[in-house]
Amino acid sequence: MLARESASLTEAVTVSSTPVACDGDVASDLGHPRVFLDIPQGGSAVCPYCSREFVLAEGASSGQGH
Ligand SMILES: [Zn+2]
Repeated sequence: MLARESASLTEAVTVSSTPVACDGDVASDLGHPRVFLDIPQGGSAVCPYCSREFVLAEGASSGQGH
């Protein structure tokens, strides 16, 4: 078994719907133009600007519901 790694520099952000808008971390210098990231069901998406990872919460709608 592999030891638990702590290589991840950014915490994954759990969201309840997709696509998710990311415009960076306004509290730091990582702000960037707003982008929309489509998260596959059961998967995750990484923002190309700030490398933040977004994961879809369990049971979240994929935007296709009513
Ligand atoms: Zn971002």
